Amino acid sequence: MTAAMSKDQELRLRAEAVIPGGMYGHQSVALLPDDYPQFFSHGEGAYLWDVNGRRYLDLMCAYGPQLLGYAHEEIDTAAVEQLRRGDPLTGPTELMVTLAERMTAMVKHAQWAMFCKNGTDATTMALVTARAHTRRKTVVLAKGAYHGAAPWCTPRPSGTTAEDRANQIFCIYNDIASLEAAVASAGSDLAAIFASPFKHDAFVDQALPEAAYARRARELCDQRGALLVVDDVRGGLRIARDCSWSTVGVEPDLSSWGKCIANGHPISALLGSEKARDAAASIFVTGSFWYAASPMAAALVTLRLVAQTDYLERIERLGDKLRSGLHERASASGFRLRQTGPAQMPLFLFDEDPDLRFGFFWSSEMLKRGVYVHPWHNMFLSGAMTDLDIDAALDAATGAFSVLKAKRATIKPSQKLQAFFAPIAKDVVGT
Ligand code: PMP
Repeated sequence: MTAAMSKDQELRLRAEAVIPGGMYGHQSVALLPDDYPQFFSHGEGAYLWDVNGRRYLDLMCAYGPQLLGYAHEEIDTAAVEQLRRGDPLTGPTELMVTLAERMTAMVKHAQWAMFCKNGTDATTMALVTARAHTRRKTVVLAKGAYHGAAPWCTPRPSGTTAEDRANQIFCIYNDIASLEAAVASAGSDLAAIFASPFKHDAFVDQALPEAAYARRARELCDQRGALLVVDDVRGGLRIARDCSWSTVGVEPDLSSWGKCIANGHPISALLGSEKARDAAASIFVTGSFWYAASPMAAALVTLRLVAQTDYLERIERLGDKLRSGLHERASASGFRLRQTGPAQMPLFLFDEDPDLRFGFFWSSEMLKRGVYVHPWHNMFLSGAMTDLDIDAALDAATGAFSVLKAKRATIKPSQKLQAFFAPIAKDVVGT
């Protein structure tokens, strides 16, 4: 350690020694611009502080879990009070039943709920439930969609086998003909169609679900006796106060939830319709921490606030304001920013930027100005954000676009991104 080293650099060095690769998974900054901090100290409301003491308006919201603000007084108090009473216990508390009642009342297609810890638990449980229900193996998934990090779905195949990914057929999101072809090639073995609530794949433009595609997925499942699964782990509660496909009038048989259902406290859920109840009861799924009461206490407060406040309408409105403000500022500087997906879960990609050099440069400039944006993953707005925050983000964008414009000709692509992409681009972007 040298005197000039920042706390973040010092921690990265220490991490190199004791954490493989220095960091792993989606919270590794290995594929972010060089100046992005790896370590943070705390969050409050819409803001996040890195270990070097810098504050950011956080447009990542912990990659989704933070729905109503970091360190939310009411939610965290409920969690801490339950924690002090014991957590986890030898069996669940009353909160588990109440939470299942609350979630099934909130999500129209759901008649039952099972709780787990991570989104991957919930999507894997959906897969197993569908196979148990149908006694078939094949699932149809959209190419490039993320459903978690278990061997059957991880986007980085290192350490997995072809057998882990057997019995999967891929279609193209929103493309009815490719969905029909995938279902046809499953023959009489279709167990499930998995769907993201909207196309939220990394590195490529997002797309809202087309109602005709969603309806066709429902019909095909009904015709074949298969189950329709919506993976609402990322979109859940930011698109609707119901399953996200309620916006296109389609109810799945199973939906997977996680991330923000307890405003960041560790809990996820599989919700299901009556049809799938017996199959769900037949599978053996469990975990040491799955029944813990403290996150359930947090979830109950979060869901009450979801029902009683206008957070959803607010993040939609703030997302629209951010989108139109960015559009104006990008155009004024001679750039076209492709802003896709729901405005409250935006992704910004620059036109004519295949190696993301402009995206990386602009994101760094935003970071310097106190706004944490992501150059290739969708972002998240939170109910803690205000008009003033969006105004500040737009002011930052004005500065960031103007430096980008001035330096445009001299900007180089990120070497680490290129090195990463070269061998595995196919797996990551699903092309
Ligand atoms: N499904 C989707 C759509 C996700 O976005 C994620 C996480 N980003 C998962 C599943 C897996 O969730 P977790 O990381 O909590 O296991």
